[in-house]
Amino acid sequence: MSDAQAGNPTRVPRSVTSPKQFMIGKGLLNQMQDYVKNFGDHAFIVCDEFILGRVSDQTAQGLKQAGLGVTVKKFNYECSQTEIDRLGKLATEAGANVIVGVGGGKTLDSAKAVAYHYKLPVVLYPTIASTDAPCTALAVIYTEEGEFDHYLFLPQNPDVVVADTEILCAAPARFFAAGIGDALATYFEARACYQSDGVNLVLKRPSRTGLGLAELCFELLRENVDAAMDAVRNKLVTPALEQTIEATIYLSGVGAEAGGLACAHAVNNGMSAVPDLHHVQHGEKVVFGLLTQLVLENAPKEELDEVVRIIKTAGLPLTLADMGLKNVVEAEWRTVAKIACAEGDTMGNMPMQVSEDDVYQAMLAANAMAERYKAQH
Ligand SMILES: [Zn+2]
Repeated sequence: MSDAQAGNPTRVPRSVTSPKQFMIGKGLLNQMQDYVKNFGDHAFIVCDEFILGRVSDQTAQGLKQAGLGVTVKKFNYECSQTEIDRLGKLATEAGANVIVGVGGGKTLDSAKAVAYHYKLPVVLYPTIASTDAPCTALAVIYTEEGEFDHYLFLPQNPDVVVADTEILCAAPARFFAAGIGDALATYFEARACYQSDGVNLVLKRPSRTGLGLAELCFELLRENVDAAMDAVRNKLVTPALEQTIEATIYLSGVGAEAGGLACAHAVNNGMSAVPDLHHVQHGEKVVFGLLTQLVLENAPKEELDEVVRIIKTAGLPLTLADMGLKNVVEAEWRTVAKIACAEGDTMGNMPMQVSEDDVYQAMLAANAMAERYKAQH
């Protein structure tokens, strides 16, 4: 008897969600007209300062030559409601009917939020590969002072995400590595969430497709991390760099959205309680969360060896000391465990019962394990 027959029509469905288009290649910033023209005839581009000159000049010229209107404005550093309102007003005044974001995560989130409030399509060009934010249906809104304010859950993913490998390979290697750290956890978290039949990022049940995308994400990192780091350290575009960006920008985002998160991101959230770690990148903290998860799962040695090899190859911090932590203060790490196990956090997607004390002990064990691996060559 099916659930519906059993009178259980409310069973949560499984899901796969994704941007409508994901494009990756060299020199795509100057082809913006090709992506914009399918959605409207006047692009409002919000753009990071470092690339403003290039966008106002070369990119805008391409749009104009294609017969499209274009307005370019500089992003004001914070994805706050004030900034979203300011940009929305400017876009309306310009008569724009497509929103484009070019920049880091906050710039892209602002573009997503403006597009959502004005019901316009959105095209995104990430300039750093440090998180999987571009592909997801989520924007993180901050106060004007830069404090976290709220998550804006969007009814759909961005229309187009364009990864220009030439721009992405020119960003600092540390950001690129952080993207690898964030993507490295995707498979393990999706696997846990699938096993527990948990809740994915759009509050549906994880799909087999989501797990498959997450598996491919891990596979691409395993195959390409060595050569991709060679490329990014020398600011070169190679097939290995390109495949790694598919993993870090696309697969990691859609894999997590459909497959779900688990311990690694829950521990990352908890680590916000440690003042020494405030300067640490999201993907770097997720790596430590992943090691904690693998301890809780008592993962096989071969799996740990491979995860640690990728971390070391990417030049990511392995131990807490590598991240700049001076002392492990018990009270602080008890708080980390408490936040990580909070009601509704993704720790609930672990396939086994996990208490705050289990997480606390696993974090210390993960650090001891990391120290041991660090001492090995
Ligand atoms: Zn993440």
